[in-house]
Amino acid sequence: MNATREQIIELLHKGLSNTAIAKQLRCDRHRVGTIRRDLEIPDVPAQPLTLEEKWAARTRPVEGGHLEWTGERSSDGTPVMRYSPDSHSPAGIAFRIKYGREPEGYVWADCGFKHCVAPDHVDDAAARLRTREQLRYLTGRGKRPAVCRHGHDQAAHGRYESDGRAYCGACKRQRRTT
Ligand SMILES: [Zn+2]
Ligand SMILES: [Zn+2]
Repeated sequence: MNATREQIIELLHKGLSNTAIAKQLRCDRHRVGTIRRDLEIPDVPAQPLTLEEKWAARTRPVEGGHLEWTGERSSDGTPVMRYSPDSHSPAGIAFRIKYGREPEGYVWADCGFKHCVAPDHVDDAAARLRTREQLRYLTGRGKRPAVCRHGHDQAAHGRYESDGRAYCGACKRQRRTT
């Protein structure tokens, strides 16, 4: 027993688990546990969940193949997941689970279930654009105009609704601020 009580207490206050402290100071794990109980420092899970495990534990299947987020939400209701030291978008995690790569732009599901985090339902901005563009062609509406009626270049500002309808993002923003 060469580790001092003070050394153990210092690491307990740093938030390390009993196992991690025992390993680092080469002392008995049960001795660390006793000191933890004496000082009433809460337990730390020795095996923290992976990002995906933590995500999965906060989802609930909903009829229709959707996945509801049961974890934390931001003030506007958008799902968020804290995974120290960062905050993550649960939809973004779903995207990486499905595609194994980083998304381009915002990730969300177009399936109609609000804030759905089903990996099969989420799209990034690039995929959403392709899907909506295809839908537009399939419904016979053809190519969108190159500029909107206020002269905004649609290659930069053009967006599609989920049904393939085209609209100008710049005009929409202006309407919102006026
Ligand atoms: Zn869904
Ligand atoms: Zn416009």
